[in-house]
Amino acid sequence: MLTSGTLHIVATPIGNLGDLTPRALDTLRSVAAICAEDTRHTRQLLAHFGLERPLLALHQHNEDQQAAQLVARLQGGDSLALVSDAGTPLVSDPGFRLVRAARAAGIRVSPVPGACAAIAALSVAGLASDRFSFEGFLPAKASARRERLARLAAEPQTLLFYESAHRIEETLADMAGAFGEQRPAVLARELTKLFETVLDGTLGELAQKVAADPNQRKGEFVLIVEGAGDDADAKVVEGRRIYAKLSEHLPPSTAAKLAAELSGAPRKALYGRNED
Ligand code: SAM
Repeated sequence: MLTSGTLHIVATPIGNLGDLTPRALDTLRSVAAICAEDTRHTRQLLAHFGLERPLLALHQHNEDQQAAQLVARLQGGDSLALVSDAGTPLVSDPGFRLVRAARAAGIRVSPVPGACAAIAALSVAGLASDRFSFEGFLPAKASARRERLARLAAEPQTLLFYESAHRIEETLADMAGAFGEQRPAVLARELTKLFETVLDGTLGELAQKVAADPNQRKGEFVLIVEGAGDDADAKVVEGRRIYAKLSEHLPPSTAAKLAAELSGAPRKALYGRNED
């Protein structure tokens, strides 16, 4: 009986090439082909390590079609690796559909763990790490981004976000607005690279630092925000969010009564808020 190959999910460095693990190298060397988000990028990585393997493009636009062909190839006995441009595949990167299809077909899917920007940032942030929520990238559109942040304002777990250079300033300002200027946060930039910087402070302070210094707006970012305390402030933030929604459809007093009940915040802290 023909034995299926294995699909290896291989983490690659997030900046420092020294972070490619020996097992990742062995795996990449051993597979029939490597599925890569950007084949040119991965070819350079392989060249650095003196490796040459067939590369197949697997990105968000072709993943559905490619998955079926790749599963057939795995079923035929070939082992394959999946890498993304940086860090751990599937973490804000393509691969989930391929992994799902492979698992559904009974193929062995095996991780080769390594760098992940979110976890690297969490490991140096000094914020509670026993429970955290990975939020990935916020929506690009300002209204959708603010809506998402409003929904997260009362979340008690530490929050992890990815952000790019061209939106970091806006995002910090929006976070200060949604979570309050005083909420502690950590901004991890260019981790493992030459200009690695980890800034901590309140959201208000971080927003100011980044607005004042163009160098702090360069590169790649992970933003980590302390969760809302289980305190009166968090309840009021949540209550105001609910009140704002309900008052679009209900008389203000009814909206405030319901919002107070749902959030546990005092009605007085919510009512008349929109009229401030
Ligand atoms: N799969 C990757 C991982 O495991 O971290 C993440 C891919 S996602 C498309 C790219 C985002 O990750 C960047 O926009 C940035 O927010 C974050 N990132 C990647 N490398 C980073 C680094 N060296 N320092 C800080 N953030 C980084």
